[in-house]
Parts: sequence; C-alpha cells; structure tokens
Amino acid sequence: MIEVKDVYFKYKDTQVLREINVNIEEGESIALIGPNGSGKSTFLKLINGVIFPTRGTYSFNGEEINSKKLDDSNFSKAFHKKVGFIFQNSDAQLFCSNVYEEIAFGPRQMGLDEEEVDRRVCDCLRLLDIEDLKYREPYNLSGGEKKRTAIACVLSMNPEVLVLDEPMNGIDPKGKNFLRELLIKLNLSGKTIICSTHDFQYVEGVFKRALVFSEEHSIVRDDSYDAVINDNDFLVKYNIK
Ligand code: ADP
Ligand code: MG
Repeated sequence: MIEVKDVYFKYKDTQVLREINVNIEEGESIALIGPNGSGKSTFLKLINGVIFPTRGTYSFNGEEINSKKLDDSNFSKAFHKKVGFIFQNSDAQLFCSNVYEEIAFGPRQMGLDEEEVDRRVCDCLRLLDIEDLKYREPYNLSGGEKKRTAIACVLSMNPEVLVLDEPMNGIDPKGKNFLRELLIKLNLSGKTIICSTHDFQYVEGVFKRALVFSEEHSIVRDDSYDAVINDNDFLVKYNIK
C-alpha cells in the first residue's frame, strides 16, 4: 500500500530524512519511535503528501505521490480521503465555529448529501464519545477534547490509513486509555495505523511493528513492536529511554 524508496529529505541545508526504505501493507499498525528531532513528524508529513522527497520516491497504491500529482484537485481529494492525518497540534486542524460543523467539513468537501453528512457526524461524535460537545466552539475545548474532535474529523472521511503524530501528548490518563482502545478497535476494523509516540505506557497492544528513527535521521530498526520495546540496551543506546 505504502512504498517509501530510498527517500532523503532536506529543509534548506538541513538533512532531516536519510535513506528511508519502508513498505507498509494494508491493515498494519506501526509505531514510529525515536528521539526528538529524529525525523518522525517529517516522515509522517511525507506519507500525507505535505512534503515531498528531495531524493527517492513515495508511492501509495502503486502511484507515485509528488507535488505535480497533488496539484490536480481530483487526485488530491481522492488521496486525502484515503490517508487521514491527525496533527500533533490540534489547533492547526480545527477552524470551524462548532464541533458539528468541524466534523461535517470533510464529508461536505467530498460532496456527500446532508443526510449522509449528518449520519457520519453523529457516528463519529458517538465513536469519540463527544456528543455533548456538538455545539461547542473547538477553540475553547481542552487539549483532550480537541484531540478527540480532530480524530472525529478525520474519521468522518472514512480513510483507509490513519496517521497520527504523538496523539497522546497533553492528554490525561483517562483520555489516553480511551485513545488506546480506539486505535485497537480501528485497526481491528481494518484501518492501517501509523503513529509516532513516546508514550509506551499507554499504547500496549496497539502496535505490531516499530520503525525506529535515530538522531542521524535514518531508520535504525524495523522490527516487531514488542521486540523493540523490550530491548532495553537498544533503547538506551539510541536515546529512546
Ligand atoms: P521528530 O518528530 O522526530 O521530533 P521532526 O521531523 O519534527 O522530528 O524534525 C526533524 C528535524 O527537522 C529537526 O532537526 C527539526 O529541527 C527540523 N525541522 C522540522 N521542521 C522544520 C522546518 N519547517 N524547517 C527547518 N527545519 C525543520
Ligand atoms: Mg515530531
């Protein structure tokens, strides 16, 4: 489904991704692990077509994703419907007058009729357990409530792949447990999950595979999540623990 081939990426003169080779199959659940600044968020932006390789290629379902293709609004819409991105900073994702409108935005962009839009919004409000926030202004919600709203917005488009950048950040333990169970449920329902995280305590049972990024901005290990997380020497060596 996702094929990242010999990808390098630079911000001006700073090399941020080096020699990245990753294949991801439909239905996988993958954690991105690594110290701050190692390139996890950049990799997730690449997967979402926010940035493009300075060298190498990224393909989704056999089709190379580049800026030229995404300039075509039909292609771009179809791609962004399949790959949903939950930003690290929810404020960057929320801009409507209330939570209902916020969740309805994506389905309306897809051209669905209002009955279907309403059905999707109500399903997502229920799934995220935020029905009581329906008419609240997103701007005034707590961090955890904003995160749930942002996830509902992405799920309302029914994407195949869910990409999350440190979703546990700034959320209380109850919210983290809720999110953990939601991710497990979504993966069981067939969604591919790709998620950066530092929060090993709250993600037990979510991930089957881990990609480990080093301070040198390359992937130093691609292995089962449990094998990585139980390898204390490795985690210490790469400044993860
Ligand atoms: P991580 O998510 O693993 O903490 P990032 O992908 O955010 O790492 O960042 C990787 C590197 O890229 C860091 O050194 C960071 O300072 C740099 N970086 C991130 N965004 C930008 C940007 N917009 N311009 C210049 N450098 C950036
Ligand atoms: Mg990051």
